[in-house]
Amino acid sequence: MTTSSTTSSAPSTDASGILPAELEDLVALFDVRATDSPTPDAEREAALQAPKFGTVFSDHMARISWRQGDGWLDRRIEKYGPLQIDPATAVLHYAQEIFEGMKAYKHDDGSVWTFRPDANAARFARSAHRLALPSLSVDDFIGSIAALVRTDLDWVPSGEDSSLYLRPFMFASETFLGVRPAAEVEYLVIASPVGPYFAGGVKPVSIWVSEDYHRSGPGVTGDAKCGGNYAASLLPQMIAQEQGFDQVCFLDATTNTYLEELGGMNVFVVMADGSVHTPELTGSILEGVTRSSILQLAADHGRDVVERRIPISEIAAGLADGSVAEMFACGTAAVITPVGRLAGSSFDHQVGGGEPGELTMAIRSELTDIQYGRAADRHGWMRRLA
Ligand SMILES: *Cc1c(COP(=O)(O)O)cnc(C)c1O
Repeated sequence: MTTSSTTSSAPSTDASGILPAELEDLVALFDVRATDSPTPDAEREAALQAPKFGTVFSDHMARISWRQGDGWLDRRIEKYGPLQIDPATAVLHYAQEIFEGMKAYKHDDGSVWTFRPDANAARFARSAHRLALPSLSVDDFIGSIAALVRTDLDWVPSGEDSSLYLRPFMFASETFLGVRPAAEVEYLVIASPVGPYFAGGVKPVSIWVSEDYHRSGPGVTGDAKCGGNYAASLLPQMIAQEQGFDQVCFLDATTNTYLEELGGMNVFVVMADGSVHTPELTGSILEGVTRSSILQLAADHGRDVVERRIPISEIAAGLADGSVAEMFACGTAAVITPVGRLAGSSFDHQVGGGEPGELTMAIRSELTDIQYGRAADRHGWMRRLA
């Protein structure tokens, strides 16, 4: 069992040291080839009024190509549009692909910011290593995001809890059916305006704990952000939904007893004694940026913050006897989602009477206040992009 202290989760890895002048230099590396057919203003404004997650994309995308021997080439911003891909492109067969998820937030003064991009850049590099993809520098990662956001600045929504979702990704683009790491790779960033995740107020979700499927296991790719992990989570997710649940939660693959995470979100448990617990990183859990930020904020609140192996039996019993007070899931897209019901083959309990927990909602507001510039950024998490 490890107990996080404020020092162990201090955001030292997030201190990019990138000054505005240096950011200019990184952005200047990108050749902007602007589209000659941008979305008409009225159409864009309509899309920004009621954005639906992941369905509408901005006018441009950032792109860098990689070839073995030559490295990263041709940094550019180009018109958003379909890629031409040979049917024998390696990623379509062997899933050599990774991605990231981040947001650009517009503050009241019109400036645009992102949250802990260095942590995403570092994770992208770790994911690349695990998937035998070439590593992209932090500079190129942040430069590509800033260059895209500046080109498509009009696409950053200003509505309450709205943002421009950023999706950097990298895939094996070589036309080759042999099994080995690709010698040609593409890196792109696309952007999609998103509105509040919970339109009409935060609503707790119901969760089914799967004992039949795992999203990963020891030595597999669980701690890398790769499309393959998601592919493996879709069937259990579908089964959970068929049983009337919103989301599936996975247990560890070795003992089938410890809480791991959802298909795309980390989980937290708040005990009645006020302590805040989350599964420790085992190698099969994705290290969320939201997760690590919440650990810090909970510690700031003076809470006991505990990263440990959490038996699902303990949580089921704790929900029955009241020692578990709150549960929530977290990730960039939804920030924090309260859990209102947790069930598995041998238990079915409401969490917090099915209402969002007090600490859950307090941390949620605190985090979004920092992201939207409504609260002091005391940990230096925000990076200005434009
Ligand atoms: C992206 C992701 C998360 C959340 O990570 P954040 O950095 O907080 O967005 C959690 N679990 C999985 C499996 C993920 O892919």
